[in-house]
Amino acid sequence: MAKHTVTLIPGDGIGTETTEAMQKVLAAAGADIEWEVALAGAGVMEEYGTPLPESTIEAVKRNKVAIKGPITTPVGTGFRSVNVALRKTLDLYVCLRPVFSIPGAGGRYNDVDLVIVRENSEDLYAGVEFAEGTQEAADLIEFCEKAGAGAIRPDSGISIKPISITGTQNIVRYAFDYAVAQGRKKVTAVHKANIMKHSDGLFLREARKVAEEYPQIEFDDKIVDAFCMNMVIDPSQFDVIVFPNLYGDIASDLAAGMVGGLGIAPGANIGKDYAVFEAVHGSAPDIAGQNKANPTAEILSAAMMLDHLGEQECAARIRKAVREVYEEGKWLTGDIRWATGSSEPACSCTEFTDALIRALG
Ligand code: ATP
Repeated sequence: MAKHTVTLIPGDGIGTETTEAMQKVLAAAGADIEWEVALAGAGVMEEYGTPLPESTIEAVKRNKVAIKGPITTPVGTGFRSVNVALRKTLDLYVCLRPVFSIPGAGGRYNDVDLVIVRENSEDLYAGVEFAEGTQEAADLIEFCEKAGAGAIRPDSGISIKPISITGTQNIVRYAFDYAVAQGRKKVTAVHKANIMKHSDGLFLREARKVAEEYPQIEFDDKIVDAFCMNMVIDPSQFDVIVFPNLYGDIASDLAAGMVGGLGIAPGANIGKDYAVFEAVHGSAPDIAGQNKANPTAEILSAAMMLDHLGEQECAARIRKAVREVYEEGKWLTGDIRWATGSSEPACSCTEFTDALIRALG
């Protein structure tokens, strides 16, 4: 295996525990990686005066590939979310989240195998917001009324939902290119175009146009509420699913819940120049520092990173070992014991990691 240099951002909360577990598993799997550790989050505020130091962004740019733990955004730092800021700064416009059943992980379905492709830079997540009672909110309310767009109560807070042609074409094209490259058969676009005609309507219209460029891939669309119902009734009807930002965020947790929960849901943020891999879950402050976290999501995110680095064999070894540990069912963390309704004692993050390393032989 070739040597790779990767930026590691341990993050905070359970991030320090899950990323340490991930490093141990990659070493046991024979991945030849030099880790360049870069810091972000609440813990670095005092030293750097910001939760996202410039040196951390530079480290990702230098190595082009990074893996991170979750980052809690400290209140009053000028950041709505450090994670969102990192995605914006590096133009990581794709959020890629494969969702698959792992037997023994407590999922309600055994046959889930789909991929969520979430737009990562626009929509209500763009952070264009006006607090209630401000002059800006009052001006906007007046503007909307004058433009005949409708009355807004004067005591409203306002969040703007921008969805662009460029952003939509980029994400939908990524979804189709991914489907072609991975031998997948169908792309579904999810929206609420019947109500939000100029944002979701644009998303659907552009998605249909891009779909015409890929006649070999089946295309359909679903209104987001119907999508949720269909997903819960029969997830096997979905293959690659492309979402605007907010619906993709919500659908990611829905899908994770169907296969066993956030503890096993991996993900990646991908742009034209850089890729940052990270679990779907947040910093889980309720269990942080207690050696209770399930590191599977971080480890499977690392397997995605190995695929990206061209190390598919090593990635496959790790996925196989994960399946073996879950199938054996002896060493499972608390979230999975809960999801499976088991009264067996939960193992620690470290015990799970050791079991996985044994499975890797
Ligand atoms: P964010 O807003 O950053 O997504 P959140 O507070 O909404 O974060 P998470 O931190 O992702 O949510 O997790 C919600 C709960 O799920 C946690 O409090 C924890 O109990 C559980 N959880 C999440 N990830 C894990 C994990 N890896 N292992 C065990 N439990 C987890």
